[in-house]
Amino acid sequence: GLDLGANDYIVRPIDKNELVARVRSQIKRKRYTERLRDSVQTSMELAVTDALTGLYNRRYMESHVGTLVERSAARGKSLSVLLLDIDYFKAINDTYGHDAGDDVLRDFSDRLRACIRGIDLACRYGGEEFVVVMPDTDIGVATMVAERIRRRVAGDLFAIQNGQKSIEVTISIGIAARLTPEDTAGRILKRWDGALYRAKRDGRNRVVADAA
Ligand code: GH3
Ligand code: MG
Ligand code: MG
Repeated sequence: GLDLGANDYIVRPIDKNELVARVRSQIKRKRYTERLRDSVQTSMELAVTDALTGLYNRRYMESHVGTLVERSAARGKSLSVLLLDIDYFKAINDTYGHDAGDDVLRDFSDRLRACIRGIDLACRYGGEEFVVVMPDTDIGVATMVAERIRRRVAGDLFAIQNGQKSIEVTISIGIAARLTPEDTAGRILKRWDGALYRAKRDGRNRVVADAA
């Protein structure tokens, strides 16, 4: 029985006190194991997610994007990447305070999650910059998704200061896609940086796809 994984046994005739004591110590042991397992689980989640928004963090994104790009090339599927940046975010912090800025980041992340599929990889890339990697998605579809996210942000006010105030928030989005089988994650990311730069320069609250 012990070989099969039993933790303990008792022999007949059963002593009531002994039974109670043994059961108690087994329960204690089980609770301890569960606590240990929970804390391992929590630290693993913390290592790959961003605490404020619950999205994946930059480290996780960077360790996975290469594989996603290679896999899409190997299968001859498309792949697009969005870089999203909140417009004039510094002004939100300066005007309403850092907590209001954090509220906006959380609300934005919820809206972002609601606009993408489960297989899309969304992460908080930096302060108010976010990245979405979309497998099996060409630049046309990616543009539609980006436009949907942009409208979802610009279309509804963001509640701050415990709902006492609502403010307008907009974002700019740059898009790049994997072009050739040899295209690397690094090169794709460089192009989406250029697309985002153009979106900002052309007036913000807009989506720009890399034309290259
Ligand atoms: P642009 O339209 O050109 O993107 O302007 P911007 O103000 O959004 O860009 P900028 O890069 O100048 O400012 C980003 C600000 O984001 C500055 C920084 O203090 C703030 N920030 C970064 N991380 C956090 C955070 O976790 N919480 C809050 N509240 N603010 C943050
Ligand atoms: Mg920025
Ligand atoms: Mg910004």
